[in-house]
Amino acid sequence: MNDIKHVNVTTVDAAVAELGKGNAAVIAGGTDIVQGLKAMLSPNPPETLVNIKPIADLSKLAEEGGMLKIGPLTTLTELAESSVVVTKYAALAEAARRVASPELRNVGTIGGNICQGNRCWYYRAEHDVFHCIRKGGPLCNATLGDNRFHSIFGAIAGCIAVNPSDIAPALIALNATIVTSKQTVDAENFFAADLEKTTILDDDEIVIEIQVPTPAAGIKSAFVKFAIRKSFDFPVVNCAAAIGGGEARICLNGVYNLPRRATEAEDSIKGVTIDTASAEAAGTAAIADAMAWPVTGWNPSNKWMIEIAKTMVKRAILGCQ
Ligand SMILES: Cc1cc2nc3c(=O)[nH]c(=O)nc-3n(C[C@H](O)[C@H](O)[C@H](O)COP(=O)(O)OP(=O)(O)OC[C@H]3O[C@@H](n4cnc5c(N)ncnc54)[C@H](O)[C@@H]3O)c2cc1C
Repeated sequence: MNDIKHVNVTTVDAAVAELGKGNAAVIAGGTDIVQGLKAMLSPNPPETLVNIKPIADLSKLAEEGGMLKIGPLTTLTELAESSVVVTKYAALAEAARRVASPELRNVGTIGGNICQGNRCWYYRAEHDVFHCIRKGGPLCNATLGDNRFHSIFGAIAGCIAVNPSDIAPALIALNATIVTSKQTVDAENFFAADLEKTTILDDDEIVIEIQVPTPAAGIKSAFVKFAIRKSFDFPVVNCAAAIGGGEARICLNGVYNLPRRATEAEDSIKGVTIDTASAEAAGTAAIADAMAWPVTGWNPSNKWMIEIAKTMVKRAILGCQ
């Protein structure tokens, strides 16, 4: 691991100033970024980590003005155990509860969760052994190799790594807004279709608040996740839904470079009585555009993920009954 300068900051302005000096990155809980630094997965790692944990204002979790305001330093445990979140924002509480293990949830933050890097075992391999297209290399190794956990909705700029956040689809289904040090953006538009980064944040920009409108009476939300190890694992596919009052917002993740709204499923279920048949039909609609990568040599393809995605959409909808 390279030597890294560690700077503590106590204000958002100080964080932005440190990041503006260049070749620096935010550290919050550190569960994602430190793993990448130790593995030396990037050929251009940051030289400075800007520790935002001393910024007291970023740990808020409270309902105010018809919305839930969440500081980015709120831990996943705090979210999962908050009675307000559990009662009114069920998809978000369940998503937080299902992230990784208790130890990681105690340390990992919501800000770090939505800003974490995409996952692909070629991209994440130690010491940059696969200098893939995501790091400026010539090709996406996963399109030619073992892509059993990769995008089923095509590539962005040739890359089929997936966004693995459990929190992101819950925020999108609940129509949340992300407030940064520079702008306010719908959660749906926060994620970047870019090889070099997973969010729209500039190098000197940080998330300072997440705002989730309190769901109107009659709207219910749910989050479901399929993972290989049930107790402690990234999602193969997850899905969040918020349905009621003739409206529906459904979002899948783990299936594409970005969290993917299942608009076809939303159209299918809006204003319809939720039952097994209508939820199944919406699941089928959600995968209409899905495509598996072909089997290459001995490598399995990701065809199985399409059926999982269909089932996740169906179960998330049934969870909103
Ligand atoms: C073994 C293991 C299992 C995991 N399982 C899951 C899982 O099941 N589901 C899941 O969703 N995730 C999982 N994760 C991923 C991730 O570690 C956690 O989701 C955690 O929430 C990340 O938060 P953090 O505070 O530790 O982020 P950090 O590691 O501190 O930061 C992650 C990224 O976010 C940036 N960042 C952090 N805060 C901000 C901010 N306020 N503004 C701008 N940028 C910011 C950092 O610069 C960095 O790029 C897992 C990680 C590990 C190591």
